Amino acid sequence: MVVWDPPIRDYQFLYHELLPAIETVQRLGYTDFDADFLDSLIEGWATHCEEVWLPINQLGDSEGLKFEDGKITMPQEFKDAYHQGIDEGWLSTTCDPEHGGMGVPLFFQAVTWAEFGTSACMALSVLPALSIGVYEVLVKHGRQDLIDHFATNMASGIWSGTMCLTEPHSGTDLGIIETKAIPQEDGSYRISGSKCFITYGEHDMAENIVHLVLAKAPGGGEGTRGISLFLVPKFLPDDWKSGGLDGISHSLSSEHNGVICSGTEEKMGLHASPTCVMSFEQSTGWLVGPLHGGMPLMFEMMNRERLATGLMGVGLAHAAYVNSLAWARERRQGRSLRGIQEPHEAADNILVHPDVRRMLLEAKVNNEGCRALAAWIGLLLDQMHSDDPEEAEMATALVALFTPIAKAHFTDLGCETCSTAMQVMGGAGYISEYGVEQFYRDVRISKIWEGTNGIQALDLAGRKITQDFGKNLRYLMWPLTEFIEENRDTPGMAEFNKPLHQGVRGLQQLTLLMIAEGMANPNFLAAGATDYCRYMSNILLGYMWAKMAKLSLEKKGDPFYDAKLASARFFFKRIFPETVGLAAKIQSGPKSLMDYPAEMF
Ligand SMILES: Cc1cc2nc3c(=O)[nH]c(=O)nc-3n(C[C@H](O)[C@H](O)[C@H](O)COP(=O)(O)OP(=O)(O)OC[C@H]3O[C@@H](n4cnc5c(N)ncnc54)[C@H](O)[C@@H]3O)c2cc1C
Repeated sequence: MVVWDPPIRDYQFLYHELLPAIETVQRLGYTDFDADFLDSLIEGWATHCEEVWLPINQLGDSEGLKFEDGKITMPQEFKDAYHQGIDEGWLSTTCDPEHGGMGVPLFFQAVTWAEFGTSACMALSVLPALSIGVYEVLVKHGRQDLIDHFATNMASGIWSGTMCLTEPHSGTDLGIIETKAIPQEDGSYRISGSKCFITYGEHDMAENIVHLVLAKAPGGGEGTRGISLFLVPKFLPDDWKSGGLDGISHSLSSEHNGVICSGTEEKMGLHASPTCVMSFEQSTGWLVGPLHGGMPLMFEMMNRERLATGLMGVGLAHAAYVNSLAWARERRQGRSLRGIQEPHEAADNILVHPDVRRMLLEAKVNNEGCRALAAWIGLLLDQMHSDDPEEAEMATALVALFTPIAKAHFTDLGCETCSTAMQVMGGAGYISEYGVEQFYRDVRISKIWEGTNGIQALDLAGRKITQDFGKNLRYLMWPLTEFIEENRDTPGMAEFNKPLHQGVRGLQQLTLLMIAEGMANPNFLAAGATDYCRYMSNILLGYMWAKMAKLSLEKKGDPFYDAKLASARFFFKRIFPETVGLAAKIQSGPKSLMDYPAEMF
């Protein structure tokens, strides 16, 4: 049986102690949002996930979905769980109350909602995550008549959303997409083309499916500059047929809008999340945002989805950790190297073995560090909307810098941790009954979709650190150096502060090296990008652990804070030192990669 132990206490610590979450969002205008309400959201969502989503996770994996005649039938249990989420308002927490949402700050949905949802049932959680992404782009950039027609049902989940970027010949390189959009006299467009790998492109849990489609309209430039964004529903609203979108009808035409699902992919994991081949055959769609200006809008949605994907890494890693820990606590094999610990048993518990402890601690400490960083990023998402231009600028710069890190590092660690958790369990880890092998299969896609992790690293090293003459990095360096200065002589902090200080100095040197060498030879930058991304991720996790250690030093004696301190020590002794190896790899440059003759691979 799969164990469920959501990190509720950890989130309370992060939001109430580490970050000034309530104070910040109240200042931003969420005046009724208080600590009790946040706790009730955290606990309520955890309970919903445990009672409604968790029980269907293994069933979805083994049963999967059915595809027949262009239609996908989901397991009945998925439909029931999804609709219970709608009825209880859990799918629209951050949506505007005007559209029926709860209107809570973004950080809750972007972080805690995402982690618990994916831990309980990743295959289901991706559907509302996509729908909310479409809703946000629509509400921010769509015409009023489109908002009137689509926003309320998108917010609730009665209609769901997709993002349609990928085509068979065009994945990372979106500039070469071939889907076409032809303008019509009534202001709409006819969309034609094929998209592949579209998550929830077709299913029977929502009454309508609203696709955000990248396509090229006449008159655009080459590459990504010629791309526009279109909203294309599976079924058109009824009053569209009678001349326009003036009325606000939520009834749907029974006519298909030429949006055809011609198949679904068999895949490694996420068996109950449809991955569809979609054809748009003269489908009616409407422009969202400026003509030929679709990519920045799609990137807005993708940036939100990238953080959500990062939280998939954290969520499944946490689920894998708690399950492997529960198993390890019961398992007895061998004897402690320091002498027999449990003489009345045939063998000692495996927690006596240093290697088992190493694996469990790497999992726990990486999870908690990523969660702390995620909580900070979540709050920054809210601060991006501050009326204070300085606060908004700082938050926007940091979110730009942190998004590729959250996507790449959280999912790299998510995959590593699910594998490590399986290792802790020995053969049992490989057996379906215990759940960890499913987490391992499900989490693997998170390194690939929403832009592969290699592309995230290039985004960080090639764009985000130089953007606006280094503004993003400057906004990071200020709090980092301030913290290091402040704690130079703080009792008990040297063991955390010193390595952090060294690491930050190293980051500054490596950044200068990447920029200087990268200008002369772009392959230098590209060859070091993944290691640079991991280096900076370690610095950020180091900063979070040092901050958590400082708080915990003040509350020594309480087991929760003592555990945090011990975890911070483990991080700086056993994880952070990988920065030394990463720096050496970056400094070695591209020669050993690029001089390697292609025919010798
Ligand atoms: C289960 C699943 C669900 C998906 N859901 C969706 C969805 O809902 N909507 C959607 O639009 N797409 C979706 N995708 C597609 C997904 O986003 C792409 O697979 C992903 O972006 C990578 O594109 P690709 O597969 O074409 O790989 P490629 O672009 O062919 O990349 C192959 C390799 O080359 C590397 N590479 C490519 N270009 C560069 C470069 N310039 N520099 C360095 N390295 C490079 C990549 O990092 C990768 O390692 C989904 C895919 C899967 C498997």
